[in-house]
Amino acid sequence: MKRVYLDYAASTPIDKRVSKVAKAAFLKFGNPGSLHFWGQESISLIDQSRQKSVDFLGCQFNELIFTSGATESNNLAIRGVVKYFKDQKVHIVSTAIEHKSVLETLKDLENEGVEVSYVKPNKFGLISALDVISKVKDNTVLVSVMAANNETGVIQPIKEIGEGLKDKKNIFSFFPIFHSDITQLAKYMNGDIYDLGVDLASFSGHKLSAFKGVGGLYIKSGTKILPILSGGSQEFKKRPGTENILGIVSLAKALEILKEEGREEEKKVNRLKQYFLKELKKIKSDFVLNSGQENILAHIVNIRFKGEKSDELLVKFDLEGLAVSAGSACTSRALIPSHVLLSMGLSEEEVRESIRFSFGRETTKRDLNMALRVIKKVLGRF
Ligand code: PMP
Repeated sequence: MKRVYLDYAASTPIDKRVSKVAKAAFLKFGNPGSLHFWGQESISLIDQSRQKSVDFLGCQFNELIFTSGATESNNLAIRGVVKYFKDQKVHIVSTAIEHKSVLETLKDLENEGVEVSYVKPNKFGLISALDVISKVKDNTVLVSVMAANNETGVIQPIKEIGEGLKDKKNIFSFFPIFHSDITQLAKYMNGDIYDLGVDLASFSGHKLSAFKGVGGLYIKSGTKILPILSGGSQEFKKRPGTENILGIVSLAKALEILKEEGREEEKKVNRLKQYFLKELKKIKSDFVLNSGQENILAHIVNIRFKGEKSDELLVKFDLEGLAVSAGSACTSRALIPSHVLLSMGLSEEEVRESIRFSFGRETTKRDLNMALRVIKKVLGRF
């Protein structure tokens, strides 16, 4: 059966150019920490990969560390800052729409006595920069706001928040550290990480046509953060453990490709999304765009089909060869209604009628036509 994959926000196919360079690195076994020939071979692969990656981000060589993915990067960013202020009563500002790897980390920290304030989005999933800034207190050490949401695609006002934090010096005599989970924004970031105005930024390889189990954390030079794992001095003493060479090589190649092709890809994907929505209207004109029309990532759209249960639709779609999802892959197997859509004010019933379609590099108009045929069939309009 011909299948169509429209779940790029969950994970992307590995680009053939990525697998080619990874293949070449596959047998490099030397420990990058060893001084001999084999170690040098490995460390030079990591160095080259870091250079390519920072070229994409537009930051300094020592401002990027490689991790196992965005979950780890988020944990390190948040826990690492709190650890720096050990024994002090600190406060964090975040939002209700963050990925679970941020929210669950914050919950753990709340259990340990850290105070956290959460900003809610408006009904279109947008966080107000003013709301974030207004929650900052004298002892706020960290503000963590994702750059774009993985379920709705809504792009958040990161620059404005960064600007607003510039006159919010805390009792520790510095401006709150600003962390952003840029996992979904990264591929269509179109600009330097400095432009975003953040101190810390998390991202993940498998959303960028690279491998799973690799990611990065941008750490602006001078940021107050400690490692959360104990061990060796790898990754500028911020993340101990022998490096995932293959993953790192794959991530660097993926970023190199994006630097060259990201803008064009974004335009193509956006055109395809608009085509999809236009044609979908002909099949079911009363669908609702959960995230409104503006400030949305090119590759994501979150749709509510009134009166249709998304879990049932997903199964029927899959049986017909169409892969989509009802929100974040991390919780969809548990069929927990999306905390993101709930926080936007949708009822549980409305959340259970919502589906995320996400597109990417390999998506074609033919794929979309096939997806539309499946949707038409499943929704019963032949
Ligand atoms: N943050 C966001 C916004 C994500 O979309 C994801 C992946 N679902 C993650 C974090 C976690 O990334 P990883 O799978 O690399 O741990």
